This record gives sequence, C-alpha cells and structure tokens, in this order.
Amino acid sequence: MPTSWQLECLKARIQSLDREIKRVADKEHPYTEPDTIYRALLRVLDSWGTHFDEARDLVPTDTDSMLDPVFKRVAIEVDKVFRVFGLADRVDSARIPFEILRSLAWAATELLDEQCKIVVRLDTAYNYSITSFRRMFEQLNWGKFWAETAENHSDSEPRKSTVLVLGFPSPDASAILLHALAAHELGHEILDRYHSEIERIRVRLLNDAKGVYRDQLEEYILDNMRRGGGVSRDDAYEKARQQLEVRLDNACSKWISEIWSDLVAIRLVGPASLAAFDRVTLNEGSPSDSHPSGLLRRRVAERYVREKMPHIAEDPICSSVFLSPATSLSERQLSPSSQLLKTLYPLLDYVCTRSLDPLSNVLDQVASPNRQQIYLGKSGAPRGISGQLGSSKCCPGQRRYQAV
Ligand SMILES: [Zn+2]
Repeated sequence: MPTSWQLECLKARIQSLDREIKRVADKEHPYTEPDTIYRALLRVLDSWGTHFDEARDLVPTDTDSMLDPVFKRVAIEVDKVFRVFGLADRVDSARIPFEILRSLAWAATELLDEQCKIVVRLDTAYNYSITSFRRMFEQLNWGKFWAETAENHSDSEPRKSTVLVLGFPSPDASAILLHALAAHELGHEILDRYHSEIERIRVRLLNDAKGVYRDQLEEYILDNMRRGGGVSRDDAYEKARQQLEVRLDNACSKWISEIWSDLVAIRLVGPASLAAFDRVTLNEGSPSDSHPSGLLRRRVAERYVREKMPHIAEDPICSSVFLSPATSLSERQLSPSSQLLKTLYPLLDYVCTRSLDPLSNVLDQVASPNRQQIYLGKSGAPRGISGQLGSSKCCPGQRRYQAV
C-alpha cells in the first residue's frame, strides 16, 4: 500500500511531466510534425491524472488499501508516457537533414495508405529505426487518445493518420546512404497491410519444415524434458514440446518479418539497402531469435534481385554489393550460439529460403519506383508513387521522372 508521501510523489511526477511536455510542445520550431505526439501524450496524462485524483477523492484516507491498485496502475502508465515522450523528444537538432522529411512523408503515405508525417531523432545508439506512433499508441491501449488528437490536428479529410519517428545514429547524421534503410524499416510497417497473406505463407512453410525436421525436433524435446517433483513423462514431454512450439513460432514470425522487409527495401531502393546495411552493422553472421543471419538475408535478397531485376543484378557497381565478406564465410563459422537455435536454424533457414517466391507474389502489390514511375504534378509537388511503367497517366505538360 502506498504511503501519503508516495502518493504526493506520484502526483508531482504527473505535474512535472505535464509541464515538460507542454514546454517542448510550445517551443519555437519550424516543424510542427511532432505536435500530434505531444498533444496525444498530454491527453493520456490528463486522463490518468484525473483518474488518480478521483480515486483519492472517493476514499476516506490516503492509507486506504483501495488506492493500491490505482496507484500501481497510474504509476505504470505515467512511466510509459515518459518513455514514449523520450522517443519523440530531441527531434529538432540543427544536424538533422530536414530535406528528407517531405519526400519520405509522401512515399510513406502512399505505401502505408495512411496520412504520414515524419519526424527525425538523432540516436545515441548506433541504430536505424522507424516507429509508427499510431500503432504504438494502439499497442499501449491508448488508441482513442491518438484518434481524438489526430482528428483535431488533421489538415486533410478524415483518414487514418500517423507520425513516423525516424531514428538514426547521431555520428552519421550526414550519411545519405543510411537513409536507404528507411525502405527496410517501412517494410516492417507495410507488413501490417498484408499481414494475413504473409501469415498464411508462414504457417504453411513452418508446417512443411516441421515435417522435414521432425527427428531433430523430437530429439531436442527429449533432451530438454524436465522431470522431477512427481511430473509424469508425458507431462514433461508435453511441456517441453509446447515451449519449443512457442519459441519456434515467435522466431519464425520475426525472421519472416525481416526477410519481407529486406525484400521491400530491395524493391524500393535496390541493392543500396544492402550497402546501407553493411554501413550500420559489422555483424555478418550469427542469427538470433529475432534476426536471421546476414548471410541468409543477403542470399535471399540476391536471388530476388536476380529474378525480378536482372538489369540491376548485372550492373557492375550494384553487383559488387553482393560480394560481401559474408559470402566467403562458411555456414559452420556462422553457427548460432544457443543449443535451441542450433536445432531451429536449419528449420528457419528452410522457411525463409522457400518464402521468397510466395512473398514475391505479395510484394508485387507494393508500388515501387524501381519498376514504376514517379510523377510530379504541374506544380512540381510530388503526387506519390503511382501509375504503370510507360502508362499514359502522365498528362501533357507534366514532367515525368525515372526514380533512382
Ligand atoms: Zn528489420
């Protein structure tokens, strides 16, 4: 049960966080894109602050045990607001290449089929990421606060809208190549649009793989049965089997998500995405629960380029990207560290390698400047990625550009 002092501290935290978000939101800056995030966070904070005050008014004393669950819940939510605010703060550094914001925003709007604003944050971690704040708010059960704020700040017709926060490493603020990774990160967001189709592919291939690697899976289950405390052999077997299934399912989802995002990136910007990948990571091999090995990813990406974009695969400059040192390392040198992954790696490799053709079919629905044209309207304002290669949608007088 919280003491009166702890309740006062929580109240003070809510008030100081509220003041800080307002201070940042009201600061003079030329870009208004982060405002939706700040306003939505203030709504979340206001809602939990009100809930907290009402609970204190309802109970006779601060030492009433009824306040305990409210205190814990509000403390958790305030902590989440603080963490989400941290992701959106520091987005107005003079070192940010603001010129990429508009082009990235209209490409994302077209690809994700929702109104997208972009803000950029320089990260201290050597990482490149894109986070959709609409999706984050929904995952945190704050979806209604986002919807209400977005509606009030909408400058277009009512439509699903988000703010994408692009984080990239501070030391490489001026490295244009790195922004090819935006295509991979957008791939993770685009996956949401085709989730059911991709999930069907994953489940089918995983079932196939379980049949092919049945003996290895069986051996792993038998090696990892935990008996004792009167647990029967059947129960121990079933528990080990279920644990393996859960881990396998999670890893497979994440690996397919990475392969899909790599293919989206190749489709959008070609081998530049692989070149950028080399720039941010020196890790060429080892797979983990969340990521396939660099070697497997490069192999699948290369096959996709050769099958779908042979003109790019044959270009001497582009093809040099595939001559990574990773290709000279043997699979054995890249073997995973954990015993579980040693069992799972061939199975997940099987799924990812065979996912190329079915994923390619889904991917054909994603617009691409490498296969299509980008049109600029008479005003010169970008109109999005649209139209077919060589189509006559380009009106007389409009300029037509081949994207790179
Ligand atoms: Zn990824």
